[in-house]
Amino acid sequence: MNKYLIDLHTHTNCSTHAYSTLEENISAAKKKGLEAIAITNHGPAIPDGPHIWSFINLKCLPDYINGIRVYRGAEVNILNKNGDVDLDDDILNKLEIVLGGFHSIEIYGDTLDIYKNTEAAINCIKQNKIDIFVHLGNPKFPLRYDDVLIEAKKSNIAIELNNSSFTTSRAGSEKNCEEILRLAKKYENYIALGSDAHFSGSVGELTKVIQLLEKVDFPEELVINKNIEKLEEFLHVRKQSKQISTS
Ligand SMILES: [Zn+2]
Ligand SMILES: [Zn+2]
Repeated sequence: MNKYLIDLHTHTNCSTHAYSTLEENISAAKKKGLEAIAITNHGPAIPDGPHIWSFINLKCLPDYINGIRVYRGAEVNILNKNGDVDLDDDILNKLEIVLGGFHSIEIYGDTLDIYKNTEAAINCIKQNKIDIFVHLGNPKFPLRYDDVLIEAKKSNIAIELNNSSFTTSRAGSEKNCEEILRLAKKYENYIALGSDAHFSGSVGELTKVIQLLEKVDFPEELVINKNIEKLEEFLHVRKQSKQISTS
């Protein structure tokens, strides 16, 4: 068992390229000694994402299932240079945690333009709709990390370290993630850890990202996955940041 008791990034088979049910993911979380998981299926702009009703109806789930706190979430897609995302505000406002980032060349267009990507990321952060910016070390979407992290810090949006980026997905992320984490240490960004599990066997799998935290000697108090209490503290800070930006 590791010292981080929450997996903030998991998919169920509502996303068509993921293969386990919610209950299978919960059983896996329980076996690994976790306290909580976030269900974060893909936003509807990519063909593999579920229909919007899948997000609207998360309200039918209890907070705790089989002893595991299940946070109602989504992983939305940045659609354009304005930083717009693919779920409407009325749906996003009902979710407990919103992950967001770049995914698909098909919906976003040319991805190698570092200035366009940075502008899109900063505009998304300024819209203040996402709580966690996911896998920004992806070499397919180059970014000016300094600029993005400084902007994220202003609204206390967490930066994700995605364990799958070190194993099965987004080849070449590792070097970028180390650079991002060193900058996050400098700017004191919150960090979120996620397995990005698309199969129950990967739920709670955070080995690689924990190794990187240790390598960079990253301050533990900035990692929001420690336990439910710590995550709730972060979500409270985020709520306040959103209120300031809408008032
Ligand atoms: Zn996916
Ligand atoms: Zn994901």
